[in-house]
Amino acid sequence: MEFINERLINSLIGDSALHSPALQSEILDKAKDAKGITLREAAALLNINSPELYDRLFTEAKEVKERIYGNRLVMFAPLYLTNACVNNCLYCAFRTGNKDLVRRSLSLEEIRNETEILVAQGHKRLLLVCGEHPKLASLDFVGKAIEQVYAVDQNGNNIRRVNINIAPLSTEEFRILKSFGIGTYQIFQETYHFDTYMKMHLSGPKRDFAWRLYAPDRAIMAGIDDVGIGALFGLTDFRFETLSLLSHAFELDTKYGIGPHTISIPRLEPALNAPAALQPPHAVDDLSFKKLIAVIRLAVPYTGMILSTRERAELRRDLFSVGISQISAGSRTSPGSYKDSGESEGDVDSEQFQLGDHRSLDEVVADICSLGYMPSFCTACYRSERTGDRFMELAKSGNIGKICVPNALATFKEYLNEYGTDESCEIGLKMIEETIEKSSKPLQNKVRRMIERVDAGEKDVFF
Ligand code: SAM
Ligand code: SF4
Repeated sequence: MEFINERLINSLIGDSALHSPALQSEILDKAKDAKGITLREAAALLNINSPELYDRLFTEAKEVKERIYGNRLVMFAPLYLTNACVNNCLYCAFRTGNKDLVRRSLSLEEIRNETEILVAQGHKRLLLVCGEHPKLASLDFVGKAIEQVYAVDQNGNNIRRVNINIAPLSTEEFRILKSFGIGTYQIFQETYHFDTYMKMHLSGPKRDFAWRLYAPDRAIMAGIDDVGIGALFGLTDFRFETLSLLSHAFELDTKYGIGPHTISIPRLEPALNAPAALQPPHAVDDLSFKKLIAVIRLAVPYTGMILSTRERAELRRDLFSVGISQISAGSRTSPGSYKDSGESEGDVDSEQFQLGDHRSLDEVVADICSLGYMPSFCTACYRSERTGDRFMELAKSGNIGKICVPNALATFKEYLNEYGTDESCEIGLKMIEETIEKSSKPLQNKVRRMIERVDAGEKDVFF
């Protein structure tokens, strides 16, 4: 656990020299280059508290994100397989001690049905999620679930990338998981603060802090190139959590030459009979939350950052601007609840936690276009073997945009042709045209040819 150096992190948090506005301003100048900043520099930026420096921090984070990832936001939805769980995490409604939760595990047929609903909304990427359970969430079951998801085909409309958020596995099990054809394996440490971790995880395999902390290492050693990390904000001081997350990202990058493919920043939401979620021990206010997202963006410019529907629509609109590159939309956190979409805002008696953004995928698509972001349904990278160090090289050099722009345009056009409403089509088509017009001549020609193929009915056009 040496790379999460609590003593060093606490000394950075307590260092009064790192409150200097002059120093913070200098660091912001350096961060402009999109080459990253050190842990010490990140600690200084987390102390920003004047309106002028907040403005500069948010502007630099936006520019760095745009330089690497452009204005694209990649869209996905979670698919919960089961809420059975043997762990007792004090912040989660799925915890074993919650006797009021209605337990649900999807059959393979139900997984197929839920996938069909998500495909019919226009989704191309899913994140499979479940509790930890030796029988009801076995690796074998996850494999069969992935098979069901990939098997759904509605005239060429299908799920083209399945990412996974499940409990840590052994290296051998990760090899098997990889063989199922997954995209990213995600795992959130929840809290990097050891004492808090032990207080929050009362029983079950998840109590083993180190087994979880080294899960990304085992996944990488098993050949899973794209690994996502995260922390659940609200359990301990947000500065400690942010600096630990960055320490983790730097460690992976140093050790394997590939940093985390994504960083997630879930924040505690209310959850049934989950005391730590109902009264977060270190609740993070919106401004601090925006600040920590911007600091992560400046520290690891090449990493994708994910913002889920945990947050309210209004706040999401604001947070996209400081470095987010992937977002969920139209989500449900209860197994089997997509079939009831439209009738309610979720299944309170079986969901993991409450969501803040209940809008449909198409509503989110239209809204983000109106804010100047391009929705992307692209899933090309891992199918073109641009994973791990190959992806990082493109992202770090700022060249990923050359590939992503045409792919985003083609997949967004495919979405609008198949699923767009009048509202999303009106704004989306205009955005596509303006983006093409702004591109270089060779790129324009390439994109126009791709879009012609999409308009002729071809699916999954990418390069
Ligand atoms: N059960 C597996 C595990 O814990 O590793 C898979 C992931 S769990 C279903 C998904 C994530 O939800 C957790 O890693 C945690 O960060 C997040 N989560 C749990 N309770 C939450 C809450 N009340 N509010 C927001 N996020 C929460
Ligand atoms: Fe189970 Fe994961 Fe919820 Fe913990 S966070 S109770 S392991 S589903």
